[in-house]
Amino acid sequence: MFPLDYDFVDTTLKITKDLVAKPKEERYEYDVTLLTNCLLGLIVFPKENALGAIEPRPLKDLKGWGVEPSQITLECQSDKCRQHKSGNTPRHVVYHLRNAVAHAGVHLWGETEKEITLVKFVDWPPGAKDPVFEAEIPVSALETFAVKVAEQYKPSLKASIR
Ligand SMILES: [Zn+2]
Repeated sequence: MFPLDYDFVDTTLKITKDLVAKPKEERYEYDVTLLTNCLLGLIVFPKENALGAIEPRPLKDLKGWGVEPSQITLECQSDKCRQHKSGNTPRHVVYHLRNAVAHAGVHLWGETEKEITLVKFVDWPPGAKDPVFEAEIPVSALETFAVKVAEQYKPSLKASIR
């Protein structure tokens, strides 16, 4: 068996970039679904060992990440969040996006029945009274964010292969 984490992320990034570069009128019917799958895959992949490679500064101090602070609601109070990932940073946001994806807290919305335009993420840990994290991110912003995140953690993922 070969460790293919890196290759999975690298290939998914290539597919994402191809899809994003394709003019809208040339997209196949299923391209936006495929793109959304790619973006979710790229977000899920930075496990604990690669999460530390993702930008720790707040989104409000950054440019070109796609996602705006106003699209994110953070209500988390856990010790883990306070110690390691506090604030509205890409690293903290990815942590909760990953939880939302892994625990079926992802909901896809569209202007029509055929095209996904918005992805809603909800991280609601078992037993919690309310969600600890909610985000409503347009697919176009998610494209920018997921590609940037993947580019940041890719080297760590490669280094973790022994
Ligand atoms: Zn948190």
